[in-house]
Amino acid sequence: MVIVHPRKQQSIVVIGAGIGGLTAAALLAHRGDRVLVLDQAIVPGGCASTFQRRGFTFDVGATQVAGLEPGGIHHQIFTELGIEPPAATHCDPACAVYLPGETVPINVWRDPAKWQAERQQQFPGSEPFWQLLATLFLHSWAFQAREPVLPPRNLWDFWQLVQAVRPGTLVTVPYTFSTVGDALRRYGLAGDRRLRTFLDLQLKLYSQVDAEETALLYAATALAVSQAPHGLFHLQGSMQALSTQLVTALERDGGQLLMRHRVEQIQVEAGRVKAVVIRDLKTDAVWTEPADHVVANVPVQNLVRLLGDRAPQSYKRRVEKLPPASGAFVLYLGVDETAIPVGCPPHLQFLYDDAGPIAENNSLFVSVSRPGDGRAPAGRATVIASSFTDLAMWWRSADYPALKQQYTEQAIDRLQQFFHLTPDTLIYQEAATPRTFAHYTARERGAVGGLGQRVSTFGPFGFANRTPIDRLWLVGDSTHPGEGTAGVSYSALTVVHQIDAIS
Ligand SMILES: Cc1cc2nc3c(=O)[nH]c(=O)nc-3n(C[C@H](O)[C@H](O)[C@H](O)COP(=O)(O)OP(=O)(O)OC[C@H]3O[C@@H](n4cnc5c(N)ncnc54)[C@H](O)[C@@H]3O)c2cc1C
Repeated sequence: MVIVHPRKQQSIVVIGAGIGGLTAAALLAHRGDRVLVLDQAIVPGGCASTFQRRGFTFDVGATQVAGLEPGGIHHQIFTELGIEPPAATHCDPACAVYLPGETVPINVWRDPAKWQAERQQQFPGSEPFWQLLATLFLHSWAFQAREPVLPPRNLWDFWQLVQAVRPGTLVTVPYTFSTVGDALRRYGLAGDRRLRTFLDLQLKLYSQVDAEETALLYAATALAVSQAPHGLFHLQGSMQALSTQLVTALERDGGQLLMRHRVEQIQVEAGRVKAVVIRDLKTDAVWTEPADHVVANVPVQNLVRLLGDRAPQSYKRRVEKLPPASGAFVLYLGVDETAIPVGCPPHLQFLYDDAGPIAENNSLFVSVSRPGDGRAPAGRATVIASSFTDLAMWWRSADYPALKQQYTEQAIDRLQQFFHLTPDTLIYQEAATPRTFAHYTARERGAVGGLGQRVSTFGPFGFANRTPIDRLWLVGDSTHPGEGTAGVSYSALTVVHQIDAIS
């Protein structure tokens, strides 16, 4: 770990108060830097924030958190900041996965032995495949814990990367170009439809792409973090608790957060970042804020737009050539508790084989609140169901309200197969589409979840935190190690170390 204390105070502007931006901001303020965070939204947290309706609190996007266990990335950052992590409980099972036509779920248990027994029973003959994943996870996790800079862009980055390598890391190297599909073929499991369907469903949640395309080294981590001693957590109160704690640390250490302030331009002089142009969305006042460093907590597509003609051509072209990004359709339901089956796990995944009126919308990831977890009044609960969706369709649709209504009806129809949703139990409903995400999170075209973890875009082949503009940094789910509040926290930590090294 690289910590340079004390060092010259820097003036730092952070664009975006998502978990990535807030984590970087809080850590930099804790080092004594002058930090100003700007966010165009009303509340901090971006895709991991919440909204309130009729007594219900809905998590906008993220509903579960990895990395809160001792030694986990969020835990490590809260310890460094000297602030309590938000209260949370384990998700066990992390997810209950229902394949088409099946009434008994595949339970992804937290206990590694219980999960091993479950998968051996569900997918006979697949254990060598899981053992390969376990070996790759062991070494990849230890490597990530040594905080490598990926991909490296200068000698300092490269040195951090080299220092993180141990003999065990070399075990993973031959798999750098492999996908999960390759590993399934290697073990003669390519024809195991149930296993492949399960992997497609679970991997898409983390990598945006199916098993055939997901980089094996990424999958090894994504599929293992649900088990002890790691695990997924359900936050007490709401997902907002994570950003609230980070904002508390930021402000305690003299940092400033301005909500409803949009950064409209990043200014560059002689290849180095110089200032940002800010608009106060309440008063429409515009000013230029100089900065020693600018940390952009935005998707890489937004970064290019903020740079305009100051974006290096090769960087711009690389962004333009990225595979199409994914969007999300999310349905937020406030229900009576009688709508929830007894013993319902907090997270479920359903795959439907009837195409329904909307063919692409064939799976749902569902998060259910728990009694007393702060999301619903007594006797009530929230049910949040999300599915992946093509972005372009929502922007070219001639009748957007009708499309949204069609998606909503299909999702409710499907949820009715599991939940008791009737006019009496369904109290509140609202839906979000890529247009909604574009409006509330300012993400380009409402794309969510980062770049996708194909071999061509993960780890060493992804976008670096160090941009081609000196002292302009990129944090968030466009960078290593990818999406999720834990992932973007790693990216923030990398940027903080990089700033330490040159300040
Ligand atoms: C439906 C859904 C479900 C998910 N489920 C999970 C889950 O269960 N667990 C998990 O860990 N992750 C989950 N994720 C992913 C996770 O939410 C994100 O990867 C993560 O929160 C992204 O954080 P970020 O800091 O990179 O960016 P963001 O959350 O996008 O934050 C960026 C911030 O920048 C602001 N901004 C953008 N442009 C400007 C500008 N020009 N000026 C000022 N402000 C600007 C935005 O308002 C926003 O607040 C989910 C995502 C979605 C959409």
